[in-house]
Amino acid sequence: MPTALYIHIPFCLKKCAYCDFVSAAGSTIPYDEYAAGVVREMELRSELLLHPLAATTLYLGGGTPSLLPPAAISRFITTARSRYGLSPDAEVTMEANPGTVTFKTLSAFHDAGVNRLSLGIQSLDDRLLNLLGRAHTAAQAEEAYAAARAAGFDNIGLDLMHSLPGQTVLEWEESLALVVALAPEHISAYGLTLEDGTPLHRQWEEGRLMLPDDEEGALMFELTTERLTAAGYEQYEISNFALPGRRSRHNQTYWKREPYLGFGAAAHSFLNAPSFGRRWQSPNDPAEYLRRVTGGELPEMESIILTRREAMAECFFLGLRTSDGVDTKRFHDCFGESVEQSYGAEIRRLLSQGLLERHGRHLAIPASRLILSNQLLVHFV
Ligand code: SF4
Repeated sequence: MPTALYIHIPFCLKKCAYCDFVSAAGSTIPYDEYAAGVVREMELRSELLLHPLAATTLYLGGGTPSLLPPAAISRFITTARSRYGLSPDAEVTMEANPGTVTFKTLSAFHDAGVNRLSLGIQSLDDRLLNLLGRAHTAAQAEEAYAAARAAGFDNIGLDLMHSLPGQTVLEWEESLALVVALAPEHISAYGLTLEDGTPLHRQWEEGRLMLPDDEEGALMFELTTERLTAAGYEQYEISNFALPGRRSRHNQTYWKREPYLGFGAAAHSFLNAPSFGRRWQSPNDPAEYLRRVTGGELPEMESIILTRREAMAECFFLGLRTSDGVDTKRFHDCFGESVEQSYGAEIRRLLSQGLLERHGRHLAIPASRLILSNQLLVHFV
């Protein structure tokens, strides 16, 4: 079974107004000290492995991993190779934010072994970037993209957001055209979600924020699919588009419910044993996380063993997000019964309504109905 590796870096230049990820502006912990803790955790976990692993992907996410010195990133990759068998042709992705990278640092990240960059540009409109509380301008985003190309990155993903405060459908259409003109290999386009407790959510509660209505949001979603598909991108997940052969290998492991090991504060892990799988996460607080790993303790919290029914629901919940859909043979191999035996009534109803299709051994939501996926997924929970 392929295994993915994830490392969480919970530091940012400043906190964005919509963000509820585990990340904070700045850090009281020196970056080198945090990086040494992550390497220690990687060593501790590897000593408990029953079999050698052959990791296929490494993803450095956050937060803003590009705040770390290239030497720290290099140590993560070296440790992943020596302790987890990260293969020489593995996908090694690093998230980066404009304003935190230069040609020099990007070249050093590339030399260290990062071969895929996920650049969080979010918008190419300074008014919207400012509303979102982003720490960079549109010009800095374009500079970072050009610098990444110059540094040798031939696999770049750009992260974008739509349904932003005051954004019109026409403005979103213009943004898509600008991004397509840059020709990244991968585009993620998410609609803004207002998370409880964030400054944007408070502004909305106080009536100080105008958001596009549901109809405009749906139009933006449809426009995204239409424009990116016309430009040669394949919509392989609700919000993710890739040029041929450039899907994110790492993210696909999540949607296929394959194992992954997470390192760092707030990192999540999943192994498909014992029973129908186990999930756990590390403490959110970086200081607490470091205290544990430097004391020689694995920082595991909230470990849960999934029931058979929960694991079945996950197969549908994750698989139906993707254009490939649920692999019915794999489902049978995992659970010893067919998808029809588990969810016959739901499947028959959705097939008859045209909300589900069969592609060989896969069951998938038709591309034109992916916008409804959240409503459809509840049938399988
Ligand atoms: S850069 Fe990303 S992780 Fe950091 S605060 Fe902004 S949205 Fe959150």
